[in-house]
Amino acid sequence: MSEACRIDYLGHAGVRLVGGEGEERRTLLFDPFYQPGSFGGKRCETRLTKPLAPLQEALIADALFVSHAHADHFDEEFFFRFYEAAVARGESEKVRAFLPPEVCDWVNTRASQRPGCEALSVGATYELGSFRVKALDNRGLDVHGRVSRFCFLVTNSEGRSILVTGDNHYPPEGAPCELDTLIIWPFKQPLERFAERVRPRVIMLFHGDHFSPGDFFCNVNWPEARELTREIFPEANIITPED
Ligand SMILES: [Zn+2]
Ligand SMILES: [Zn+2]
Repeated sequence: MSEACRIDYLGHAGVRLVGGEGEERRTLLFDPFYQPGSFGGKRCETRLTKPLAPLQEALIADALFVSHAHADHFDEEFFFRFYEAAVARGESEKVRAFLPPEVCDWVNTRASQRPGCEALSVGATYELGSFRVKALDNRGLDVHGRVSRFCFLVTNSEGRSILVTGDNHYPPEGAPCELDTLIIWPFKQPLERFAERVRPRVIMLFHGDHFSPGDFFCNVNWPEARELTREIFPEANIITPED
């Protein structure tokens, strides 16, 4: 990926894309997660891996995308601080947030704390500077029957394509066969399903922070994950958070 589009791994399933020249330059966030643990419900884990970009720096962005409502993808505190940071910069009217409908509904009940957010819909394309972000279906419905889990296909003016998959287990409809970068959680079956549909030049593995007590499925051994991915995608250049 050229400097015209930089991919920063923020930790857990968080990704930041920075690209475009001059007025077109934009910073996009996907599923930033800065909490020290806690996954809601019965699960409570302590996060051992520190986020890779400092929080104060990560808060400064033009747009925030959330793939689904799980607590490690929609970090409520980060969301509101993202807006507070924009207000402090005098940019609260410029920043945008794209959320699954159920998350958007929830945020709208706290309207005093933030300006508008936009509900994602499958197939919609959002233009942000030289980036185009297309929301793809990631197989999940909310209680109202609306799609609640998304993947994001990002393309830029150079024709680069990046698929940010969230907690994907299936390749989404509409994903191109030829991809510049596939950002994916390295489980065997999902990787095999993707290998039948897409041919990425680069695979960035993510969603593998370490948590305590330690039997949690989010704990990923990166050398093993790289080997597994290499077996399934022998031609791809594989990047892990440890590289
Ligand atoms: Zn999830
Ligand atoms: Zn997740």
